[in-house]
Amino acid sequence: MNRTAIVTGGTRGIGRAISARLSNDGYKVAATYAGNDEAAENCARDIGVTCFKFDVGDFDACVEGIKKIEAELGPVDVLVNNAGITWDAPFHKMSKEAWDKVINVDLDSAFNMTRNVWEGMRERGFGRVINISSINGQKGQFTQANYSAAKAGLIGLTKALAYEGAKKGITSNVVAPGYIDTEMLQAMKPEVLDGIIAGIPAGRLGKAEEIASMVAYLASDEAAFINGATMTVNGAQYIAG
Ligand code: NDP
Repeated sequence: MNRTAIVTGGTRGIGRAISARLSNDGYKVAATYAGNDEAAENCARDIGVTCFKFDVGDFDACVEGIKKIEAELGPVDVLVNNAGITWDAPFHKMSKEAWDKVINVDLDSAFNMTRNVWEGMRERGFGRVINISSINGQKGQFTQANYSAAKAGLIGLTKALAYEGAKKGITSNVVAPGYIDTEMLQAMKPEVLDGIIAGIPAGRLGKAEEIASMVAYLASDEAAFINGATMTVNGAQYIAG
């Protein structure tokens, strides 16, 4: 294995589990992050990946960031667009700032990153683009008009890329996690968390490693014929048609 993978937001939560899994599978992994240096240092130390700090919502920062990654680790074969944020509010109270910020970090980022590795993937005749959406992009969610729109947007983007990349050996797929046991959920009130778990037929939260194994499969040669798909990993909480 001599492939290079970028995992955006790869230093914490689900992204960190993806970085760890791909590193363990033999990829040279660039884990990107926004500002939490301590988490990045821990990630580099514990799982031996290289971390790069830049804002995936900023196109020019992505141009520079990808240049640095390629200079250090080589051309990018696998791109996992995982970085994401939430800024929840009921729609009648949602600010333009909350809308713009979530669309920028959760959706524009996928354009900013993918656009800057796409031509290289086409030239080399191989690529894997894996976009991390969400159950709430599939079904919508109260107080998450911005997040649901961004995460649904990733699914449309992925389908279009699947058509365009197919003849060039590039696959583009979505992983749509349900509720995963990460810091975000651990910060919730116990009664809210119990309510969420009660709505999951599997009777538990998902594990970040379960998302990482789906990503690892989609990145592999074995998954070459899977293109434009949305892989739902949610313990049967929402079964998309
Ligand atoms: P975390 O909040 O734990 O981690 C987010 C990561 O993204 C961090 O590394 C963070 O960097 C990075 N990041 C945030 N904003 C930017 C930015 N502007 N530029 C670069 N990096 C950025 O997220 P989760 O692990 O909970 O979620 C990962 C993905 O999975 C997200 O897209 C989320 O929407 C999706 N998801 C999560 C679910 C869950 O249950 N947790 C369920 C469904 C989907 P830093 O550490 O510097 O802040």
